[in-house]
Amino acid sequence: MNSTSTDTMSALHGILKTIADKQQQLERGPLRVGAHQQRVDGLTAEMETAQQNHRDSRMTADNKQLQLKTSETKLADLQTKLNTCSSNREYQALLEQIAADQMAESVLEDEILDSLETVDTLGEQVSLATKTVEQAKVKLKEETSKVQAEAEVLRKEITSLANDLSEVETSLPPEIRPDYDRIVKTRKDDSMASVDDGICEGCFQQITPNMIAQLTLKESVICNSCGRLLYPASSD
Ligand SMILES: [Zn+2]
Repeated sequence: MNSTSTDTMSALHGILKTIADKQQQLERGPLRVGAHQQRVDGLTAEMETAQQNHRDSRMTADNKQLQLKTSETKLADLQTKLNTCSSNREYQALLEQIAADQMAESVLEDEILDSLETVDTLGEQVSLATKTVEQAKVKLKEETSKVQAEAEVLRKEITSLANDLSEVETSLPPEIRPDYDRIVKTRKDDSMASVDDGICEGCFQQITPNMIAQLTLKESVICNSCGRLLYPASSD
């Protein structure tokens, strides 16, 4: 009956939906890149913590080694003093101090071994964290290029679809054009709905017989419940 008008509106609706879909894909691009950037940032922070822990452990080991050197010098002094003792009592006291210092030194030596092991372990953690950051950076770079390439294609497609839209819009019946322009401007791809068996396919509410009659007369009909511009579904 009014197949031309139906085809036009159905085609416009289709183009509007495709444009919206491509625009959504375009908007998702930066989000995809952002997710990878966030991962890089998080891993970089972890790597910096690992580096700080490694530096701290090295400082602890260095301090202990310095402490050991001081203790060794002190012990050597005490050994020399043994030869110059004037009394047996002084000699005994020195021997006790030397024994105590040697014990402390042996504990310190164990601690140094432990701390050097910690330095190694933390150093491995730094290497691992650094490698992980590098890998994440490579992925970020790949995703950025991919998104850029996709965006270029999408923009071209959207431009071409917008041209198609303008072209098909010229076939719209003049009675419908003002409502179409007004609704499409605000609702974009969600501005239209087909009517099948008297049901608006946008909100699935029944439309009135009067509206069905208006539709067959190619008049502009807007759904009472959802506000979409209606067109008859093609009878295929
Ligand atoms: Zn509706």
